[in-house]
Amino acid sequence: LSGNEQIREKLISRKIEFIGLQFTDLLGSVKTVYAHMDEFETIMAGKTMFDGSSVKGFARVEQSELRLMPDLSTLRVDAFEAERGRVAYMYCDVLRPGGETAECCSRSILKRALKEAARLGCRLNVGLEGEFFLFETNELGEPIRKAHDEVGYFDGGPADRGERTRMEIASEMKRQGFMLEAVHHEVAHGQHEIDFKYGEALTAADRWMTFRQIVKHVAHRNGLHASFMPKPFAGQNGNAMHCNQSLQSTDGVNVFFDNGSPDGLSDTARYYIGGLLKHARGMAAISNPIVNSYKRLLPGYEAPTHIAWSSSNRTALVRIPSARGGGTRVELRTPDPAANPYLVFAVMLRAGLEGVASRLEPPEEAAGNIHRMSAEERDKARIGRYPRDLHEALDEMRGDELIRETLGPAAFEMYISLKQQEADEYAAVVHAWETDRYLGRL
Ligand code: GLU
Ligand code: MG
Ligand code: MG
Repeated sequence: LSGNEQIREKLISRKIEFIGLQFTDLLGSVKTVYAHMDEFETIMAGKTMFDGSSVKGFARVEQSELRLMPDLSTLRVDAFEAERGRVAYMYCDVLRPGGETAECCSRSILKRALKEAARLGCRLNVGLEGEFFLFETNELGEPIRKAHDEVGYFDGGPADRGERTRMEIASEMKRQGFMLEAVHHEVAHGQHEIDFKYGEALTAADRWMTFRQIVKHVAHRNGLHASFMPKPFAGQNGNAMHCNQSLQSTDGVNVFFDNGSPDGLSDTARYYIGGLLKHARGMAAISNPIVNSYKRLLPGYEAPTHIAWSSSNRTALVRIPSARGGGTRVELRTPDPAANPYLVFAVMLRAGLEGVASRLEPPEEAAGNIHRMSAEERDKARIGRYPRDLHEALDEMRGDELIRETLGPAAFEMYISLKQQEADEYAAVVHAWETDRYLGRL
């Protein structure tokens, strides 16, 4: 039997009926087309077609006929067959009919950035922290917009009303091959966190998309709604997607570690941080892609507001967790779970590598709480402000050549145009806060 036939037999023996071919659109939503096992040869040959003009990001840029090339190494079977039959899933690259990669395929954009790193003799590892909220639903299945419980960080027991669902999510993740590092209630009411083991960047991005789907499914099965919205409630912490990253040489060594330096960080790590800080503003529209993202990035909620790095404090955009040796890593704290992980990883990697290539020395690390510093103190320490809203972020992105190069011109233009539309739409709405505040008085 050929390789594909062996896999086909195996899937059939596991009673798999359908293959769910998945890809992530430019804005970070996962898309699925189901093909029957009868079509297995066609599927594996990358001949499953779809209409690109109906998917955000692909429309206009690409010809409408696109094809999906599955990546067999991503094959997984989930446990939701009761809802829709037995399905095995694979993530796909999006190709044009002639076989070239489609310009708006975010998985291919990441692969291109990883190739650049491979050329320099290194690979990117990423460890993600997944934060989300659970919500009760009404009889129509819509989320009730009120915190699901009133407990916080590391609370458990009956008052932690999401405990059972959270543990069920964790078990399903485990079943699907995740290595779990921490499962707990997060700081905000109704907020939860699951951290899973780092992996090579492409795998980590694929896994993040799987994680999101598991969270949504298991919540739904329990009559709840799970949301990755960055800031559902004013006055409470929001959801982050912290990206812990390190570079590994071809012989498996973590090149961010240097036993001989006083803080255990190598020059490479420092320059990489320099690159991340340099492009933080240009990356903002990718790492914090929606209007709501910027409501999370305010003082007082463990989320960064300024461009600085620190080994200790969580107000810095880049934090260096205390682990050294193989665990030496740089934690980028800006990204939120509304972002497309493939694009986030691509731009952060290229930014870091540019820092390394140009030996970009970052400013001194920020020792104290950045929010308590005066504007003069921040200026002196070369600590700039992160964009305050999506408009500002998009303006920064437009001016960042490295981001354009990383996405490629077509995806870059398409991304900006979709996001600008969103920012403009929001700007044109008169919000309840405004009428509450002004209507009576003015
Ligand atoms: N939820 C916080 C945020 O929005 C992060 C909390 C943490 O450090 O885990 O960034
Ligand atoms: Mg957290
Ligand atoms: Mg963290």
